[in-house]
Amino acid sequence: MTPAATLIRGGTAVVGEEVSRKDILIEGEQIIAIGDPGELSAGGRGEAGISTNLEVIDAEDLLVLPGGVDTHVHFNDVFMGTVSVHDYYTGTRAAAFGGVTSIIDFSNQVPGGSLAKTLDDKHEEAAGKAIVDWGVHPVITEPTEETLAEIPHVVEAGAPTIKCYMTYREDGLLIEDRDLERIAAGLTAAGGMLMLHAEDNDMIEANVPRLVAEGKLAAIYHARSKPAEVETEAIRRIVGMAERTGGRFFVVHLASAAGLDLITEARARGVDVNTETCTHYLVFTDKVLERDDGIKWICSPPLRDAAIQEKLWEGVVDGRIPMVTSDDAAYSWEAKLYGKDRFDKCPNGIPGIEPRFQILYSEGVAKGRISLSRFVEIVASEPARLFGMAPRKGSLAVGADADIVLFDPEARWTMGQETLHMAADWSGYEGIDITGKIMRVFSRGEMIIDGPECVAAEGRGRYIHCALPVAGGAGG
Ligand code: MN
Ligand code: MN
Repeated sequence: MTPAATLIRGGTAVVGEEVSRKDILIEGEQIIAIGDPGELSAGGRGEAGISTNLEVIDAEDLLVLPGGVDTHVHFNDVFMGTVSVHDYYTGTRAAAFGGVTSIIDFSNQVPGGSLAKTLDDKHEEAAGKAIVDWGVHPVITEPTEETLAEIPHVVEAGAPTIKCYMTYREDGLLIEDRDLERIAAGLTAAGGMLMLHAEDNDMIEANVPRLVAEGKLAAIYHARSKPAEVETEAIRRIVGMAERTGGRFFVVHLASAAGLDLITEARARGVDVNTETCTHYLVFTDKVLERDDGIKWICSPPLRDAAIQEKLWEGVVDGRIPMVTSDDAAYSWEAKLYGKDRFDKCPNGIPGIEPRFQILYSEGVAKGRISLSRFVEIVASEPARLFGMAPRKGSLAVGADADIVLFDPEARWTMGQETLHMAADWSGYEGIDITGKIMRVFSRGEMIIDGPECVAAEGRGRYIHCALPVAGGAGG
């Protein structure tokens, strides 16, 4: 039940780059005022005027943060002989527990299906289930003239970010460069952005059979089959495509230091290419793949060594990597075991939608790597801006949706299957000591997480109509 108005009082709020004590007044679904402590109870907008139905929440010892925005998740994803276990109920419920109030999910074009169907499918999957707000990235798998002609329509329908894969031929996902250039040209003209899974397919298709023939089948060889050069080479091609087409590109899940250099240099030349990295590249290295249960961490691109991880952190700190997503891809343990004796049969992915916010606070802010305001940028405001849902999402501002996390910066707890709420029957984030804990989560003014309870009604989440900012490219 949403009260007519809610006053979140006395918390330490991150408003833009400023961190200070603020009172925040919510009416209906929006933030209607942000004031210094006590200010909102005095004047014309004061408590007296709206006191009939005002709920006051004391946030004295808490941080008040915008709800997380995770623009890289895979719900109901059919892949490598299985389907991800996060649907729109279990996935968005885990998101809510993890402080995430907006997600964008990938929707693969099915064989023979239209691009419009990628949106229809997700509306169907979300109906009666979604707890937080959600958007869609259509994934083109069949770059026919008919498909390309549909691009302006999905952009118009609020899905301007289309993704393609540069590998996964066997899964019907691979798109050749010449087709990527056609897609990028049409998409950019329509006001969209082409997201790419950047891995060089030729190198992978040479490496995998060679390792398998040599009997190198354990989880670590997944990483050996796709070393950083595989990713860097694909990024080199993407930069070339961006230069030739003048298109807008986004490299998903960056895990290559040399790739980061290529993107940084290209942006300095005015090439419109941007990127993100993902939680797991910042907290795990390829060492975990050598464990007996190493298949847990098989994902693509693979986890890298500590030196590359350090370079990725540097990019996150200085802004060359503007944002961090989860790449949530939750497969059951039964499905992960397809790869028990063959790394190449293991569904690539780690359940991660819930850990992201709290682990990045703990590893980033609590350990002194990033400021609190930088944390808010990487988990909320930058993904909202770059993916076209700002100013409604991603920041605490008057007129924005009241998507708010109340966060205890001092709480200590241990992350693992027992303390998380994701639907997979295993966790890659087991036994990790965390500083900082989500206490309450609001979505459009409604409390959806109250301590250990999810109090949201299934199906309350709404479609997010995204529209990209006009100016892209360098300096953005
Ligand atoms: Mn991918
Ligand atoms: Mn992904």
